Amino acid sequence: MAQPIPTDPGPRAEVVVDLAAVRHNVGLLSRSAAESGAATMVVVKADGYGHGAADVAGAALEAGATWLGVCTLDEALALRAAGIDAPVLSWLHLPGEDFAPAVAAGVDLSVSSLAHLDRVLDGARRAGLPARLHLKVDTGLSRNGSTEDDWPDLVDAAAEAAASGQCEVVAVWSHLAFADVAHHPVTDAQAARLDAAWRLACGRGLRPIRHLANSAATMARPDLHYDLVRPGIAVYGLDPFDRPVAESPLRPAMTLRARVVMVKRVRAGEGVSYGHEFTTTQDTTLALVPLGYGDGVPRRMNFGGRMRVWLAGRSLPVVGRVCMDQVVVDCGPDDEPEVREGDVAVLFGPGDGGGPTAQEWADELGTIHYEVVTGVQARRVTRTVVTGTAGDPA
Ligand SMILES: *Cc1c(COP(=O)(O)O)cnc(C)c1O
Repeated sequence: MAQPIPTDPGPRAEVVVDLAAVRHNVGLLSRSAAESGAATMVVVKADGYGHGAADVAGAALEAGATWLGVCTLDEALALRAAGIDAPVLSWLHLPGEDFAPAVAAGVDLSVSSLAHLDRVLDGARRAGLPARLHLKVDTGLSRNGSTEDDWPDLVDAAAEAAASGQCEVVAVWSHLAFADVAHHPVTDAQAARLDAAWRLACGRGLRPIRHLANSAATMARPDLHYDLVRPGIAVYGLDPFDRPVAESPLRPAMTLRARVVMVKRVRAGEGVSYGHEFTTTQDTTLALVPLGYGDGVPRRMNFGGRMRVWLAGRSLPVVGRVCMDQVVVDCGPDDEPEVREGDVAVLFGPGDGGGPTAQEWADELGTIHYEVVTGVQARRVTRTVVTGTAGDPA
């Protein structure tokens, strides 16, 4: 008898984001910050590290965060467009940027130089509102931020603009170079430079707060919490000190998975995928999983043949090259328990059931888990937001 044709096969490739994990992580981070008297700014740049900025922001604000941090003005305005009215700080701007829409939307703006200040104040004039400034001092990363030499002039100009009602100097802030090494001497030197910059601003009659700590410093350096902490990666459950899932208090929020589209028996001696880097050594079962480098699975992930997926309750090897859209999984000669078309293969996830993790991918690729999760191609991979992992296969 003919089978009915299904109308909804479900997503091909899917990134599942567990907001219960986000809430758990933000709860931990914000409680620890609160013990030092600090508020928590959850960083949702790069679309929430690939997890979905607005969804993560909403969960984070429910779980104890009161601020959001983003890189670009577009990212800040997208949060406002999503109906989020919590304080948002944006910190990386283009030379020709128009700040009026951001000031009008109540977005806090980082400022690193006199020229940058002029453009922000111009935007504030056109918006008809004072700009909310976080003056950034470069304490030793040499990215943006004012040098120590330029700092007094920047503070003077900002203090003058504040006195005439054009802006409010909300904060003096900086970013760490070695936070993932808990007690690196450069970290202490950076904190001392931040303190000196802040004292100078206070000496000019300003009353800014201070902030410095990313995830690693939030977790390991309560003495550097100041008034506000800015965790990013830990919010997503990835451990800034690369501790294994079982040893980390954090819960990974992202699972990358796809459904098996074909299962077949092949004989010994068959070449698999482009260039036949793998040849079957025995009769075996192969499963085709429709995710590849076009989705954010780096091709080099299976150089050396060490990539594995979690499928049918087993950790199974990917064989042959990663293609643009697909990988081939060797289910073994016995294929027990049996893999079926439609089964869900987990490429990485929380890892608590034994499946692979973003941390393991990073180790394999010689990179950091930040790059793994932000590398998932949002235009191609369907994002599904869940609360809790009940029913997930890994
Ligand atoms: C990305 C970023 C953060 C968050 O860093 P994590 O290491 O992900 O916690 C904090 N502050 C600034 C300025 C950033 O760019």
